[in-house]
Amino acid sequence: MALEIRLYPDPVLRKRAEPIPEITDEIRALADEMVETLVKRVGYGLAAPQVGVLKRLIVVDVEDDFYVLANPEIVAASEERVLGVEGCLSIPGVEAEVERARSVRVRGLSLSGEEVEVEARDLLARVFQHEIDHLNGVLFIDHLGRAKRLQLLKEYERLRRSPQAQPQREKEGAVI
Ligand SMILES: [Zn+2]
Repeated sequence: MALEIRLYPDPVLRKRAEPIPEITDEIRALADEMVETLVKRVGYGLAAPQVGVLKRLIVVDVEDDFYVLANPEIVAASEERVLGVEGCLSIPGVEAEVERARSVRVRGLSLSGEEVEVEARDLLARVFQHEIDHLNGVLFIDHLGRAKRLQLLKEYERLRRSPQAQPQREKEGAVI
């Protein structure tokens, strides 16, 4: 069953998610539903708080790379940082350039309970950083300067108030 995606400014998006002490059937079922939700909504990633569950679980689906990780953390990040256009399933209709580390090493637990490490770069690294931010109550808009953030939120509010209003152009960034 696809789950409802919580939209900004839902307060659940600002809370810190709890670690998952062990992989249970309940966690596997949640992961299945998150995967289904992500496929339906055509994004690159989804974090449990986005479906209202404050647990540290993410799903990442970027081209040939597919990961479901519990308790993911960034254990190393490149000094090199790059700009890329990002959007978010929880803040639909708007996007902005966000600076992120070009590559990261992520450690977490697979659904079989094994510790895994992933070396990610470029888009995959961006998606991991965006999803792990969600687990800490951080949104991509928090990485913008104040003026840019306010402008983006104004546009978002305008779109929310008039659902028939369409974005002015096709979005081309990565919806994460
Ligand atoms: Zn997001």
